[in-house]
Formats: sequence, C-alpha cells, structure tokens
Amino acid sequence: MKIVILVGDGMGDYPLKELRDKTPLQVAAIPNIRRISAAGTVHLVQSVPDGMFPGSDVANLSLMGFDPRLCYTGRAPIEAAGAGIPMTAADVAFRCNLITVQNELIADHSAGHISTEEARPMIEELERKLGRDGLHFFTGTGYRHLVIWANGPCALTTTPPHDVLDQPVSRHLPQGERREELLRLMDASRSLLADHPVNRRRRQAGKSEATQIWLWGQGRRTALAGFRELYGLSGGVISAVDLVRGIGRLAGLEAVLVPGATGFVDTNYAGKVEATLKILQQHDFAFVHVEAPDECGHSGQRDMKIKAIEAFDREIVGPVWRALETAGRPYRLLICTDHRTPVAVRNHTAEAVPLAVLNGPVGAVTRETAFDEFVDGGRVFKTAFEWIQECIQRRRNL
Ligand SMILES: [Zn+2]
Repeated sequence: MKIVILVGDGMGDYPLKELRDKTPLQVAAIPNIRRISAAGTVHLVQSVPDGMFPGSDVANLSLMGFDPRLCYTGRAPIEAAGAGIPMTAADVAFRCNLITVQNELIADHSAGHISTEEARPMIEELERKLGRDGLHFFTGTGYRHLVIWANGPCALTTTPPHDVLDQPVSRHLPQGERREELLRLMDASRSLLADHPVNRRRRQAGKSEATQIWLWGQGRRTALAGFRELYGLSGGVISAVDLVRGIGRLAGLEAVLVPGATGFVDTNYAGKVEATLKILQQHDFAFVHVEAPDECGHSGQRDMKIKAIEAFDREIVGPVWRALETAGRPYRLLICTDHRTPVAVRNHTAEAVPLAVLNGPVGAVTRETAFDEFVDGGRVFKTAFEWIQECIQRRRNL
C-alpha cells in the first residue's frame, strides 16, 4: 500500500469577522480535500503536546508519527540534519540569524531578507575571525545560518528573533549557563559586520543591514528511529524548508528539494507533484509539505491565505489524488496541517487541527464534507503522532 501525507503548513485559523465568523479553511474552495474527507474520515488531532511551543519543528515531528516529548531536542539540530551537516554527540547546534538591530531594538529578524549570495561572505568572515577548533559557522539560505559548537552551552533560554520584533535587544538576550560566551560571539559579530562590504552596498541601496548575528534554537543531535525499522517503509520528504527535510533525513527518508520550490505561493507546485510521483514509483511513502499558507498567516494576509489553501487543494491534493486513483493500487492518503497560524495572531497557536484519511481507490466521489477546525464538534480525537502511527502501519482497516 502507498501511504501519502500532504501537509499545508499553518492552514488552521480562527473565525474572522470579515469572513462572517468563518475560518479561511471554511470559506476556501477546496473540493478535493472535502471529497477526500467525505469518502474517508476527518478528525481533529492535537499536533502540539501540552506545554510545548507550537513550532513547525514540533508539529511536523508529530505529523511524521514521532512523539515530540520524547525526541525533540531543539530546532537547530533538525535544520543541521536538513542541511546535511553531521553532528557528534558532543555538538550543540545553534540557529544563527543575520539580523538588523537599530537603536538597540530588534528591527528585523531577517536583515531585510538578505540573499544567500550576500550572506555567504559575511558568514565566511565570521568563520575566519570567530571560528575555531570545535566551533564553526555554516552558511544556510538567506538569513538562516548555523553554528555547530562542540561541548557548547545548551542549558540556556534563547529567543526566536521573529517573536520579539521592535523590542529591546537587552530584554531578550540568552539566559542560562555560559551565556557570556554567546554574548561574546554576538557582540564580536557587530564590529566584524559593521563595515563589511556587503553592508556598505546595502546601506547605499537603502536596504536593512545585517548588523549582527542572533543565536537561538540550540540543541544536541536529534535521534529518530528510521521508517524502515519502524514500519518497513522507504520513501521521501518533499519540502522547500530545511526543517522538514531535516526530519525526513533523520527518519532515514530521502529529502527532495524541488527546483523552484520557494516556500511561498509562487512555489513550483507541478514540480512537487512530479517529485512525489517519482518517489512513489520507487517507494511506498511520501510526505509532501507546502509552506505558503503559513507565510500568509505570519504576514496577516487573509485573502492571500485563502488563495494559498486553494492552491494547495488544486495544485497538490487534486493531482496526487488523481494519480493514486489512476494507478489503481491500494493507497492511504492523509491530508493535514501542522498547526494553526491565525492571520489575526500572525504567529503559530497550539489548538487541534483537522486530519483526513482516505483508503483508496474509491472511484469517483462527488459528496463533500467539512475539513475545518470544528469537525467532530471541535472535540479532539487523538494526538497527531498516535493517529499518524496507526495510519502509517499498513493495516488495511483503521
Ligand atoms: Zn508550520
């Protein structure tokens, strides 16, 4: 049996006055998802365990059937896995943002969405001046980079810079063991980057400068059991996001980066579908992640979020479902979202999310049923990881 999980990131939301007290999922035209829900089953599942932060890392671990309470060690080690950077048991990974500080406020967590080409020489300069045996800087994409630190400090509280925009730097500095070592690195980056040629060019062009690094999301190596050992399955993860590909790699799955996959509404949908079908020709499992609805939630763009959800239904869910039906072999198709990113909140929230499961082939379906935040009268069915585990085990009857 082929098992396919299709994830629209951050699709969940709250009722909005401007939508006559409906949510984006309720007003969006998503005929494929509603037919899958009608022909199969749809429930609300808890993707973020109580007390955990509703990050995409935690929620997507759940959607791959892992209990985040047992395996989550931090965001950065998962991203390191996604970038193919090996870690030893002694290493601590830190996310290293290039950020803009103005008047001692965190003005921009992305240094004006600095490009990878501009960021690379800056990260290389930091590696030359601050790198040493056991402490190295790695260039990632855009403003997102990594530091791998052997025997580095780990028992610290650090803050994602995108959560504290326009707030004083001094209020959100790392707290905990060996914090002064982190502060020294962050401080040193200020003087090293101040007159960097890339910053000079950005200044002249009127763009935000990368005034310093911000270290956060630290953790030790993440260990996940492999899908082959757990379920006898091989397969792949298709995503534009390092974090999601990282979880896939850690689970022993292929991590596919589709050319033109941007993580936004202009992503290469057809390329993602093609990559999914290619994985399914050789393997039995595919996990497809589409980032765009989440981005629209963060930017508070209601109409764009509805469009992103509709594009997920039309460009990903529809074509993948048709291909599974056409192949005529048994399949199990799951449609879900990792967490809510309400446009009114502009950040993630931890409430339960809908998850639909269909065992096919089923032939033509014309009936539709709701796929939204209120299925089952809003009652939570199970934790997401428990339900996903049951779905991935290839028992014919759920
Ligand atoms: Zn997410």
